Amino acid sequence: MKHHQHYLTLNPILYHKQHASPLDNPRLVHFNHALYKTLSNLPFDHFDWCGIIGADNDTFPSEFRPLAMVYAGHQFGQWAGQLGDGRGLLLTQVINHQGKIQDLHLKGAGKTPFSRFGDGRAMIDSTVREYLCGHALSCLGVPSSNALGFVVSDTIIARHQMVCAAALLRVSDCHVRLGHFEWLAVYHPKLLGEFTHQMIDTYYPQLDRHDISGFLKQVCQNTAKLIAQWQLVGFSHGVMNTDNINITGTTLDFGPFGMMERFNPDWINNQSDHLGRYTYQNQPTIGHWNLKKWLACFDLLSIKQSVMALCLDEYEQTFYTEYNTGICQKIGLPLDDDSLALAYEFVSLLKTYQLDYTNSFRALIGVLDNTNDNKHEKTLLHIMTKELNAQENGLQSWQDWVVRYHTKINKSTTIKTAIDAMRQVNPVYILRNDMAQRAIEHTIHHDFNEAARLFELLANPFVVQEIATADDITPTHPYDMMPISCMS
Ligand code: AMP
Ligand code: MG
Repeated sequence: MKHHQHYLTLNPILYHKQHASPLDNPRLVHFNHALYKTLSNLPFDHFDWCGIIGADNDTFPSEFRPLAMVYAGHQFGQWAGQLGDGRGLLLTQVINHQGKIQDLHLKGAGKTPFSRFGDGRAMIDSTVREYLCGHALSCLGVPSSNALGFVVSDTIIARHQMVCAAALLRVSDCHVRLGHFEWLAVYHPKLLGEFTHQMIDTYYPQLDRHDISGFLKQVCQNTAKLIAQWQLVGFSHGVMNTDNINITGTTLDFGPFGMMERFNPDWINNQSDHLGRYTYQNQPTIGHWNLKKWLACFDLLSIKQSVMALCLDEYEQTFYTEYNTGICQKIGLPLDDDSLALAYEFVSLLKTYQLDYTNSFRALIGVLDNTNDNKHEKTLLHIMTKELNAQENGLQSWQDWVVRYHTKINKSTTIKTAIDAMRQVNPVYILRNDMAQRAIEHTIHHDFNEAARLFELLANPFVVQEIATADDITPTHPYDMMPISCMS
């Protein structure tokens, strides 16, 4: 494995070097062989991965130099001051097959100077959720952190009750958060310039290291693209604080996230989000808010207000271009005003009649296809029509829309082209709340097969699979959709 301990070349004020705190009797629940292969040419069993993820320093390869990063951030719209890796350690950085840097970060590795009142550990629940969702998003084509594997252990931690701790070896192209810059701007403003140049060298090497304006624009655009992709697959992050958003536009820090099931854009995933700041609907606006706070740091480097305003304008434009193109593709149409109107009306039907976001888009293949193929999609369409029929005006509104949809398809494309396009972007499988919950319960009861089955299923989300059960395509019952606790 080629090592590239880039973070250690930065000013030591930015991190705290330390050992991990081993877990008792770690057991490897799952290992992501496919991800491992992208990182290294070595056989996967070369290292004792169970020991490594179990935070046993004695099993760490000699190249590992664990450290906790310091950063700051705005949480729920308020300045939170200094934060940092409270339970995670950057073990090392490696270069993947595309020549890109990848961080290996152990989450649940014990206390650090930034743990505040926390114990430095992670519950099985949040670990299973993060493991499966990082994998699911990556396989959907949404930039995301992923993980090499996770363990459960006999170490007992106190949450709502005494539970066993778990740990996960996260892999991400970047753990540098908007909050890193905020920390420097507030506590060490003289170091902000050099840090920014170093971040440009590492994460935006195509830019000149002194082109700070170019860097700001790129970060804003990548963030816009990421959030557009979240909206398109129905992912709601749940805790979009500036310390949870990185500078490459990769999904980071899974906590009280949720996938849209029955379409409710105002749904609050996060039990602690009393005002609904981080609903699905608000994500694009919150992305803008976060970037505005971040851009303000660069006042110190004499970046003009007009440049910052332009970055934010471009954020908005990029978001709309990505989202509008994507939502039209989801209904099999190239972007134009009529396609967009149809797509927005479709989304509005989903909201009015509380239909499942993922299944309804997939069911459109069943609407267009009049052969004997696409049985899965026709079943979804049948279920959808039945649900619409049970609601006032449901069927009529739907049928009106379908007539206009057919007309537009005939005018703008062919059925085959439309279906091919839709298949690429409308998944059959997403990580539903109930699915994650079942995998958690099995894992807690020492049965690791369900997590493995879901991992396999979510690896090919666009293809109908035999290992799927009816539950995997059934929306979680509204009564079971409880907000997710931040306790993790
Ligand atoms: P999050 O909202 O999960 O990103 O966490 C916010 C901050 O709290 C981060 O700095 C975490 O490292 C820290 N944190 C969360 N849980 C724990 C824990 N159990 N022990 C120590 N620090 C934690
Ligand atoms: Mg965080």
